[in-house]
Amino acid sequence: MTSRVPSPPSGGKTLSIAVIGAGATGALCALELARAGHTVTIIDAGAPGNGSSSRSAACFREQWGTPSTVRGMVYARKYYDRWLELVGGDTPPIHHNGYLFLGTRQMDEIAVRERVAMQQEAGAAIEFLTRDEVHERFPFIQMGVGVTFATWGSNDGFLDHDRVYLEAIAAAKQIGVTTRFNAPVTGATIENDRIATLHIGDESIEVDLVVNATNAWASKVSELVGGTELPIVSRMRYLYFATLRRKVQWMNEEAIRAMPMVIGPNGAYSRPTPDGSLLQAWLHHEIGTAAPSLAEQDEIGQGFRFSDPASYGQAVTREIARWMPFAEEIGRLDAVASGFYADTLDHNPIIGYDPLRGNLIHVAGFSGHGLMHAPFSAAIVSGLVSAGENISQMELPDNCGTVDLTPYAVNRAFKAPEGMVI
Ligand SMILES: Cc1cc2nc3c(=O)[nH]c(=O)nc-3n(C[C@H](O)[C@H](O)[C@H](O)COP(=O)(O)OP(=O)(O)OC[C@H]3O[C@@H](n4cnc5c(N)ncnc54)[C@H](O)[C@@H]3O)c2cc1C
Repeated sequence: MTSRVPSPPSGGKTLSIAVIGAGATGALCALELARAGHTVTIIDAGAPGNGSSSRSAACFREQWGTPSTVRGMVYARKYYDRWLELVGGDTPPIHHNGYLFLGTRQMDEIAVRERVAMQQEAGAAIEFLTRDEVHERFPFIQMGVGVTFATWGSNDGFLDHDRVYLEAIAAAKQIGVTTRFNAPVTGATIENDRIATLHIGDESIEVDLVVNATNAWASKVSELVGGTELPIVSRMRYLYFATLRRKVQWMNEEAIRAMPMVIGPNGAYSRPTPDGSLLQAWLHHEIGTAAPSLAEQDEIGQGFRFSDPASYGQAVTREIARWMPFAEEIGRLDAVASGFYADTLDHNPIIGYDPLRGNLIHVAGFSGHGLMHAPFSAAIVSGLVSAGENISQMELPDNCGTVDLTPYAVNRAFKAPEGMVI
């Protein structure tokens, strides 16, 4: 079954919808659902951005391994570019600094070229760069560590993450969305296998439909409202920040601000921030927790503080400096932030109706890409609400094509992993 978004509520019916979670996903879902004519309340246990949305590296890319996700990100990029018209604010919250994935001879170059062709076919502005092209266009990259090619996305870059959820909520309020912040959802009353009322502390609100946009807390919230157990595990991630203290040849503040996001062969990455410092991160492998508390996201573990000379942050800088030597020379780390990735087994999100509760939609499990995904997620949720049931594909607005929704289905087999995960 195919559906278009945005579209009027199914059968012209206006629904009372509760969106739980006021991060980027919940905020854009609330806005799009209100715009489609529904009566929407957005609820959060804390203030907007209380979860991963305010703790994000906020990078944006059209470079993905799943064709539907590429199309979805092309749609999301257009949405962020058209932000002033669609949401508001003074400037679009996206910086098109570009995104450079470095490749080495250990990688399958033919498979990478095929992936780039798939991305181009899906509408993304991605190029395959040879070794010489990388050297010529990005002279700050140290080629001697085995860099033999790269892929480059000129539409890619990073987002002003706080603006995304704050401006989306402001726009949603303007069209009548009610907000309930610092109000944790604690349970639900089930009638005829559907959620009839949602409990927020001692209060209850009647609902026709519930959208669970609580990401790292989605499995716990699903259980609280009578939904199915979601296979989402939360893993702690750290971001380190180095402020420019010394000029390194031509790498002055202006040159740093203009740099792209660069991902090294081992997955460490670095990008500039609008204030001219350098954000740096790398995988941090850790056994995940199924149901973390909200407070846990700010707990910087032993060995992860930026000031410890033997900290993980120093290891991140050293790894980045292997292929971008100036990273070690410009200054020193002076901040660290932490937050949860909400991982599924295949690193694609879960977006669809709950198998147990016919009026519960989950939109969660975004690993390290929920911020960039948010407009696409909201479009899918809007399509699901309009269809009134799970759908296997839908057509995106803005000539972005048809997307297959089965990679995001709640009850999928989780056996087709997204290959481009950081
Ligand atoms: C270090 C780090 C780097 C990242 N880098 C990137 C990146 O480069 N690009 C990118 O796109 N993404 C990135 N991500 C991922 C991205 O930040 C998240 O996927 C995204 O912010 C998820 O948004 P959300 O709105 O779905 O969830 P969240 O922002 O986590 O919001 C969930 C909300 O649910 C609320 N909640 C929980 N329980 C309840 C309850 N019982 N009742 C009511 N409310 C509740 C929470 O308070 C929270 O506000 C990164 C994440 C981290 C941690």
